[in-house]
Amino acid sequence: INQLSVFTKLPSELILDIFSYLDIVTIFRFLDTCRYHRYLLLNLPEIWQRVRFIPFRTLISEIYAVLRRFRKENRLVDFVREIYMDSTDSQHFPSPLVMLIKFPNLHTLSSRYRRNQTSLTTDTHTLKDLLRNGDILPHSLKLRKWDIFHPYMTKEDVVGFKSILDAISTVGGVVLDIKMCPGPIIYEPTSTPPPPPTTTTTTTTTTITTPPPQDPPTSPQTTQPTQPACTNIVWTLEKCRVCDASQDRCYRCVGQCRSCGAVRAPPFINHQ
Ligand SMILES: [Zn+2]
Ligand SMILES: [Zn+2]
Repeated sequence: INQLSVFTKLPSELILDIFSYLDIVTIFRFLDTCRYHRYLLLNLPEIWQRVRFIPFRTLISEIYAVLRRFRKENRLVDFVREIYMDSTDSQHFPSPLVMLIKFPNLHTLSSRYRRNQTSLTTDTHTLKDLLRNGDILPHSLKLRKWDIFHPYMTKEDVVGFKSILDAISTVGGVVLDIKMCPGPIIYEPTSTPPPPPTTTTTTTTTTITTPPPQDPPTSPQTTQPTQPACTNIVWTLEKCRVCDASQDRCYRCVGQCRSCGAVRAPPFINHQ
């Protein structure tokens, strides 16, 4: 036992608090400093519940070396519940899907700001293949929440991505931080009550000839809402920079905050 370690004198709550700020590579470096530190950390499961990767001051080889140390035998792989890998936008960095498959108890995944590496289409295809080949069983993963937004995201198939995630999750639903924009707000015309009197007058005059012309206009009206009104993506956590109100549509469909009227900027302006 290393008598010199300050950690011998600290309560475990304080140790946990200190380590909650550290990325996983730093934690393993500390673990390797002496046998006492190793014993200490491996006996605190809470330390391993939240795994944080940082995009700087870390070699990719170190990331893979650290991932290999999470094994069934040392139970570390089962302790992991949350993974944060925001801004790790390198083609050499392991994909969030690797985390999804490696850690069976993972319920929260955050891989935001990975502009070049994020493709919902590719991930959807990969997950479908894994499901088809039996590498992932239906409703087998504990994933509940995945934050995947980056400010340049547009025209991605969020619906397809979410449906494959729902198919593999045990809870039956994964909450994403993105959604399809519902499209511009269509204000209902207030002149809807007047039409009924006009139709009654037309039905009295032409009783048989009116039904055939009325049918063609109603059928295109019912098909209109099924087509997407907007293909942009909305970050569900977006707040107005002036009044903090939530925004549920993209800045192109609703150009001003509906609470305070402040002009909205494109997401890549807000996230610089
Ligand atoms: Zn506002
Ligand atoms: Zn929109």
